Amino acid sequence: MTFRDFNLDSRLMEGLDAMGFEKPTPIQEKSIPLILDKKNLIACAQTGTGKTAAFILPVLHNLLVNKSQGINTLVLAPTRELAMQIDQQIEGFSYFTNATSIAVYGGGDGQTWTQQKRALAKGADIIIATPGRLISFLGSGKVDFSSLKHLIMDEADRMLDMGFFDDIMKIINTLPEKRQNLLFSATMPPNIKKLAGKIMPDYEEVAISISKPAEGIRQGAYMTHDSQKEPLLLSILKDKIYKSVIVFASTKEKVKNLTRSLKQRGEEVRQFHSDLEQIEREKLMQQFKGKKVRILIGTDILSRGIDVEGIDLVVNYDVPPDPEDYVHRIGRTARAESTGTAFTFINPKDVNRFKGIERLIEKEVPKLKLPEELGKGPDYEQSSHHDKGRGGGRNKRNFRAGGKRKGQDRNQGRRNKRRN
Ligand code: AMP
Repeated sequence: MTFRDFNLDSRLMEGLDAMGFEKPTPIQEKSIPLILDKKNLIACAQTGTGKTAAFILPVLHNLLVNKSQGINTLVLAPTRELAMQIDQQIEGFSYFTNATSIAVYGGGDGQTWTQQKRALAKGADIIIATPGRLISFLGSGKVDFSSLKHLIMDEADRMLDMGFFDDIMKIINTLPEKRQNLLFSATMPPNIKKLAGKIMPDYEEVAISISKPAEGIRQGAYMTHDSQKEPLLLSILKDKIYKSVIVFASTKEKVKNLTRSLKQRGEEVRQFHSDLEQIEREKLMQQFKGKKVRILIGTDILSRGIDVEGIDLVVNYDVPPDPEDYVHRIGRTARAESTGTAFTFINPKDVNRFKGIERLIEKEVPKLKLPEELGKGPDYEQSSHHDKGRGGGRNKRNFRAGGKRKGQDRNQGRRNKRRN
């Protein structure tokens, strides 16, 4: 199958040719015909599968064929990084058309606020927005959704986890009832279906393998004591075969300490977390994309939606708290059929958590031997016996399905939402 089979507008085909897209990915193959057929859809697809093009291409096609006045499509996304990324992809696909788009997201200074507000009042064919920011603009009464035809929610599971449910419902109440709804989500916990049931009368479902890392990722894990993690990372980074590297650590403090420590050892490394100003984050991403920065160390805010090509190594310095986060993190490498490597450092306390990940991805990740000079690491199987009772993957997933993360109250969700 090729993109020609969808009979998309020739201007979009030109854009696809220019971007070097030849064959649709599986999610595109399944979703595009349904969306062109005006169906409501819930699609289960992770970042890295080509989901953005899956929803944007048919919507753009529709827009070109039935040119309408006013805002045609609203895309809701959980983070500003993802909103910007979607906007950039739209710009690429619509390069040979006159379709317009605006991204509206939090952060930035007063000037950004004024610019976004003005742009929104003026309107564009496609608005990409984070829910919190859009809500604050809706109050001004200058946003006119009366001609809206499509509502797209991207990473809907993430938006619900971040406590956006009420905001999403408020936004939806301002939209025309007759519209096409497309809900994309990396996972399908029950609260997603509940949301779908509330906002659309009926829908088609599309799923490609649920929460499975892309085929091109070579995965490996090291059993380590905490004290061995930093020397292990240094030894992996030492021989420079990895040209573009992301390291995930569990907290901002760890990110800061690790960055400082690696810098002292002469590594070219930068940090990425929610303390950075929006402008600094954007600049840093540009430098990373341009391969001017080799190693980026960050918290989970790095793991969603960052679309950087050619990342060849992802390191989980700590085992991520939720199995799905593992898939998102390692999905930063091996984008769209390229290859990449993902290593995870597991300390004895995290063994059962890692087993939850292996259950989710239905695969045992090879356990690699520590470099000799680091001494002996803990034993995987033995550690798991000592670690009974710490929530493994399944429990956590069920907990999330209820709409909240363990230890995270609703207000915490809201606070995170702002900081992210
Ligand atoms: P996404 O899952 O939307 O974040 O897309 C992941 C990456 O794959 C992006 O860099 C896209 O530009 C790229 N991509 C999406 N669809 C295709 C395709 N059919 N052929 C080649 N690259 C693609």
